[in-house]
Amino acid sequence: MHDTQKTIGREIRYSGIGMFRGESSSLCFKPASLNSGMFFTRVDLPGCPKVAAHVKRLFGDNKHVCLKDAEAEVESVEHLMAALAVLGIDNLEVEIHGREVPAGDGSALLFLNLLGKAGVVEQKGERKVFIVKTPIMVNSGQASIKALPSEKGLVLSYTLDFNGSFAKKQSCEILFTEDSFRREIMSARTFGLSTYVEEFKKLGLGKGVTDDNSILIHENGEMTKPISGKPAELRFPDELVRHKILDLMGDLYLSNMAIQGHIVAHRSGHSLNVQMAEKIATIAMHR
Ligand SMILES: [Zn+2]
Repeated sequence: MHDTQKTIGREIRYSGIGMFRGESSSLCFKPASLNSGMFFTRVDLPGCPKVAAHVKRLFGDNKHVCLKDAEAEVESVEHLMAALAVLGIDNLEVEIHGREVPAGDGSALLFLNLLGKAGVVEQKGERKVFIVKTPIMVNSGQASIKALPSEKGLVLSYTLDFNGSFAKKQSCEILFTEDSFRREIMSARTFGLSTYVEEFKKLGLGKGVTDDNSILIHENGEMTKPISGKPAELRFPDELVRHKILDLMGDLYLSNMAIQGHIVAHRSGHSLNVQMAEKIATIAMHR
């Protein structure tokens, strides 16, 4: 039995503030037909250009994941992509008025809840699954990702390590099921390192950061709310590594395929995650 493609049952709308630019944008999630894929439609731009939620449309600095097609851009897609991966949605139109996907609470809960309300429905067609047959590797400096064959389905392992400063080393390994990700991963929030705060301010980014949607990590290991400076209230003792797995899941889904394999990531961020997604998409094309 093969898995079937999925879309949502009805339209659903949401408006909110983007974390990086602090600008308001509104979304309308719409069902899409079999084999149409996941794509954004910039309804605020002339001609309503479309941008595919695919690794071939990536661009930018990799602090957040941005897509671009011709002149149309959509920013901060990673947590939405993670929700789509977990729900197994293959076909979806996201009308967006504005250029950045709203932040919600800094995790993927907003999108899980919205798409859950819209209902996930099966379509009459097989979904694309990428089975890792031989090891695939990407690395950059001390960061690396390996994709290895796995008989269990999709397993994600992540090790977070800042060489002794900021947070202590955290590791997490999880076998993917919709249920395990809902319970263990999807509510883990974004975090930022205090050393990047000034750089972000200079670039005019991080304007949508609030005390509730992110955690600020200081060099001495202290974790605070980013605006008030009060101690952070963590959702899990190892919320950071769980968020890293959430990001990894979302970034890999830019390959637009479910993956069967063991993904072993060490210190990776968006730029390396999407390199792995790119490799997977390229290998799949040549099979
Ligand atoms: Zn993230």
